[in-house]
This record gives sequence, structure tokens and C-alpha cells, in this order.
Amino acid sequence: MNNSFTYFMPTKIQFECGAVKKLGEHVSGENILIVTDPFLYKIEVAQQMAGYIQGKNVHIFSEVEPNPSGETVDLGAALAREIKADCIIGIGGGSSLDTAKAISCLIHSEGSIYDYFGGKKQLLPRVAKLICIPTTAGTGSEVTNVGVYTDKKVGAKMPMVTPEFWPDLAIVDPELTYTLPLSATASTGMDAFCHAIEAYWNIQSQPMCDFLAMGAMELIIQNIKTVCYEPSHIEARKNMAMASMMAGVAFSQTRTTGIHALSFPLTNLYGANHGTACSITLPAFIKLSYEGAKEKMDKLLGYLGFNDIVKFAQYIEDLLKDIKMPTRLSELGIKEEEVERIAEIGMKPNIMYLTPGEISKEKIHHLLQSIL
Ligand code: NAD
Repeated sequence: MNNSFTYFMPTKIQFECGAVKKLGEHVSGENILIVTDPFLYKIEVAQQMAGYIQGKNVHIFSEVEPNPSGETVDLGAALAREIKADCIIGIGGGSSLDTAKAISCLIHSEGSIYDYFGGKKQLLPRVAKLICIPTTAGTGSEVTNVGVYTDKKVGAKMPMVTPEFWPDLAIVDPELTYTLPLSATASTGMDAFCHAIEAYWNIQSQPMCDFLAMGAMELIIQNIKTVCYEPSHIEARKNMAMASMMAGVAFSQTRTTGIHALSFPLTNLYGANHGTACSITLPAFIKLSYEGAKEKMDKLLGYLGFNDIVKFAQYIEDLLKDIKMPTRLSELGIKEEEVERIAEIGMKPNIMYLTPGEISKEKIHHLLQSIL
């Protein structure tokens, strides 16, 4: 266990069924911008949130697409500058929350989000208040200092990590997830599981995050099938929202590892949604992690009630099948000759090295081949 660490998580968390009804109490300033996606606008979730804010100028930007592009961020930032937004509220899945984070900074930091990719320029300290309200359980973006954007110029996902992205307030209201269909419930729930296990086996893991991660994994294992097949199960939805948030806090300190590094080419080249792109390599990474973190993984197995890493990996693979998620790369249309390129791109993000053990391109190639 890592005995020397820094833990910093400045976001205030309000966790409660129905918490969004008090949204008006939390906004600041006169000009409010809600950032969301077209579907949540269509089913009037964004308008309902706006209704909870009385006596302010509330605007809605509802152009966010999955894996949001820099162009979408810039479009939202132009509106935020025009209305002189004092408070940005992200409502939605990780795509909307990440877009809200970048927009909230660009109000006072000049130029395009593209100017800030790869640390080319530094964002100025954020002035606008940032409130994040997740409707998936999920990415945990509401409690992280991470934003992930698609750089359309190079066709790659561009994670940004900056202290300016810590939301001031995360309102986690499990009732907002009741409308999630089976596929999104399953994929976002397994994304949260990946965050937890990647925080746990991470070479930068730390004691408090280990406990959050273990608790999150336990909750997801106990509840994910229920939320997939009984979408209005209040207790299970609550537990998944809690798990997603706990996993988010855990990986906000440690960052993620190989699973997320490989998810980027699987999304960019094959269009897999984020949770699918992550969880498809999860069982194989569980087996690989044992090489570099045997003692820790044995502790996790004991905690979760397994006595063998292979059986645990098989359990997770069976779980993925039960909730109708792909477990083979061929299901995403990937052919053997394409594996080399995926391995090469997946080695590049500077989170791959956080995977325990000796990680090489050859090992990753082999891992991908094993799940063809
Ligand atoms: P998403 O935000 O892309 O949304 C996916 C779909 O689900 C959308 O069509 C949306 O309309 C729909 N949806 C959302 N909530 C719904 C609800 N309650 N009912 C019905 N439909 C709903 O999905 P996501 O998986 O939450 O986010 C993925 C993005 O988050 C990716 O870009 C990923 O890279 C990023 N991410 C960010 C972090 C972070 O810390 N910032 C962490 C992990 C992932």
C-alpha cells in the first residue's frame, strides 16, 4: 500500500433523491447557462431544471454530442460569453458535464478549447460557478477535475486535467437516472466499475481511494443487473449513483489505467460508446493485473467473495453477457490485422503506465488478441 499520498477533492457533494428541486438555492449571479444534450432537452429534463431556478436569466445550450468535440465546446463558450454567464450548470452524462467544465473556464480564458489541448496554454482561474448534475451512473465526472474532448483535427480523444475543472457543487439525484434505457444503464454502470478497479490496482493507488473503490465495486456487482432489468428500482438506482460517485472520487486522485487508454481507439476508430469501449477489455485486464498486483488483488477477491482471479474475470465476463454488453472485439467489427494499430494507439495516453506490472506493446497486443 502506498503510504505517501496527497488527497484533494474540493467539490461539495449533495446526494439525495429529489435534490435537484432545490437547484435554485445553489445558483449564483444573474445569468445562468444550462449545458445538456439534445435528448435530455427533448424529454424536457433541462427545461424542468430551468423551472427550479426562479428570478434569473436562464439559457439552455443543448448541442452536446457523445464524446463532445472541441467545436461543440467552443459553440457553448461563445453563448456563455455572449450572455455573460455567472453560473454554468452541466446536466447529463459525462459528455454534458465535461462540456460544461470547459465552457465555464472559457468565459474568461480567451480563444478556443483547442488552444488548451496538451497544455499548450493554461486556463485562467475559473470565475463562473460550476454545478454538475449527472443523469447517468456513470462517469463520476461530477467529482473529478477531468474533461474529455474529441479533437476532430486529429481524430483523437483528448483528456484534460486541470484544477479549474473541479465542480463547485455536484448534485447527485438518483431519480434522474430512472429514464436511462438498458444499454446506457449497463455501459455507464460498467464504466463506473472500471473507474473503481483502475483506481484500486493503479500504481498511484492510495488507502482512502482503495476503500471507496472496493465499496463501489461491491455496490455495482450487487445492483447492476437489477437496474438493467428493473429500471425504476429506487434502492438499486440509488446504490448505482452512489457507486459511480465513489468510483469518481477514487480515480480523481489516482487517474485511470490501461482500460481507459485502450478505450480511446475503440471509440474513435470503431464508434464504441465509452462504457463499452472500457468494459470489453476489463476481464482480460483483471487477469493481467494479477501479474503486477497479486497481493492487492487477493485482498479484493476476498472482499468481493471470490477465491480465484480467473473465476473473478469469468464472473465479470458473464455479467457483461447478462446485461447484453459485448465481450469480444469482433462484436465491434474488429479484425485480427487491426489489433496491432489499436495496441499502438492505446500505448500512447499517459495513463497506460499506471497499470500495475510491466506493460509493453507486445503484452497489450496479446491481451487484445485474447478477446478477439
Ligand atoms: P453521454 O453523456 O455521452 O450520454 C450518452 C447518451 O445517454 C446520450 O444520448 C444521452 O442523451 C443519454 N442519457 C444521459 N442521461 C440519460 C437519462 N437519464 N435518460 C435517458 N438517456 C440519457 O454518456 P456517458 O457515458 O455518461 O459519458 C461519456 C463521456 O464522458 C465520454 O466522452 C467519456 O470520455 C467521458 N468521461 C469523462 C470522465 C470525467 O471524469 N470527466 C470520466 C469518464 C468518462
